[in-house]
Amino acid sequence: MSTFDFDAVIIGAGAAGLFCAAQAGQRGLSVLLIDHAPKLAEKIRISGGGRCNFTNRDLDVRAPHKHFLGRNPQFCRSALSRFTPADFIALMERHGIAHHEKHKGQLFADRSAEDIIAMLQTECAAGQVTLWQPCRVESVEFSVKTPSSADVSSAGSYQIQSDKGLIRSRSLVIATGGLSIPKIGATDLGYRLAQQFGLPLVERSPGLVPLTFDGAAWQAYAGLAGLALPVEISTGSKKSRMAFLEDLLFTHRGLSGPAVLQISSYWQPGTPIAINLAPAVDLQAELLAAKNRSRKLIANELAQWLPARLADAWVQQDAAWQRPIAEASDKALIALAQRLSRWEITPTGTEGYKKAEVTLGGVDTQALSQQTMECKTQPGLFFIGEVVDITGWLGGYNFQWAWASAQACAQSLPKD
Ligand SMILES: Cc1cc2nc3c(=O)[nH]c(=O)nc-3n(C[C@H](O)[C@H](O)[C@H](O)COP(=O)(O)OP(=O)(O)OC[C@H]3O[C@@H](n4cnc5c(N)ncnc54)[C@H](O)[C@@H]3O)c2cc1C
Repeated sequence: MSTFDFDAVIIGAGAAGLFCAAQAGQRGLSVLLIDHAPKLAEKIRISGGGRCNFTNRDLDVRAPHKHFLGRNPQFCRSALSRFTPADFIALMERHGIAHHEKHKGQLFADRSAEDIIAMLQTECAAGQVTLWQPCRVESVEFSVKTPSSADVSSAGSYQIQSDKGLIRSRSLVIATGGLSIPKIGATDLGYRLAQQFGLPLVERSPGLVPLTFDGAAWQAYAGLAGLALPVEISTGSKKSRMAFLEDLLFTHRGLSGPAVLQISSYWQPGTPIAINLAPAVDLQAELLAAKNRSRKLIANELAQWLPARLADAWVQQDAAWQRPIAEASDKALIALAQRLSRWEITPTGTEGYKKAEVTLGGVDTQALSQQTMECKTQPGLFFIGEVVDITGWLGGYNFQWAWASAQACAQSLPKD
């Protein structure tokens, strides 16, 4: 089989890999981009409901811990401040891709995520990037430069054995993403390569994922599947408490919607989550006031502030709530208000990687340079995007990390 030489090889042609390849290629490097999946950038295609929430205007580059998780969220500050949401928006505008803001700074393509994939392909073409897809990586080895070698510019080179031949390169960039949605190409290759080269990993788990509930207690809510409402959701206590004001969605197996996806990244198995089902009103005051003026059933009164289906299901939990509000005791109304304002339930688990949007954990940032994304102990080996232990909130933060880490790496890749 033939042998191929490139300045840089990038494994994984998703968001981070495509962007890194394009930038490095445009700097004049010969770049090979490899992906094993039959279709390009499937995760971009399915993201944001098909419109790709490609960045977020609210990102505070000086305080990444506000929107990013990981053992050291400050790690991403350098890359995020050198390639900002405004930089990606400018790129979209140069390509004439119309976009709009939906909610809390989230930016989406007007037409389709396909436009962003096409833009990244055009950028790769401008950098004369070679794309091999599908292409399977069989092994990766590193040869330390021999003392007799005339080449003093690098510490060694990578030999990547693939089903298309042997590739030699001074730099190897791992952009294989996380473990979510295995059916469109997610694998653990990035983590295995990290281990092969002695890098520490932070334990992985599904993030931005629906939570599941079962047992008798959940049966009362099982009939609410499909119902959505705005809530405040929280988990943890005191210093570790995290809360989000977002929409909640009841599903057949549990809870989903942006509120639950956000909190899932902070939820610790075995602990409860607390949900305020009517965060915009003082329910206790409203119910006690209604008692003096209304002849309606409690469920009908509640339907002013909650979806009627939820109000009906909720009052079934206690006979004291299944009567006209004028006949209810203050104690029963206060208990009802308190329970709706702090519904505490313990998930039995998550829907796992098949439904998760991201993977928490990954390559420990301690092992990487925050300026270049290169491994501190393994010259020429870089990790970018989701494979690294940096996870963003829902809302475009994960793509912004993919673009920014890719750019930081691309700017530092050496040219022969
Ligand atoms: C349903 C869904 C919706 C999402 N929506 C959004 C959103 O709107 N906004 C947002 O910011 N984030 C969103 N995300 C998260 C976002 O898609 C990821 O964080 C982002 O794609 C990570 O980029 P990446 O390049 O690191 O990894 P990926 O984009 O996952 O790319 C990794 C690439 O590596 C390839 N690969 C994996 N293993 C191998 C191997 N062994 N050999 C060769 N190639 C390999 C894969 O085929 C893939 O092409 C969403 C995720 C999902 C699942």
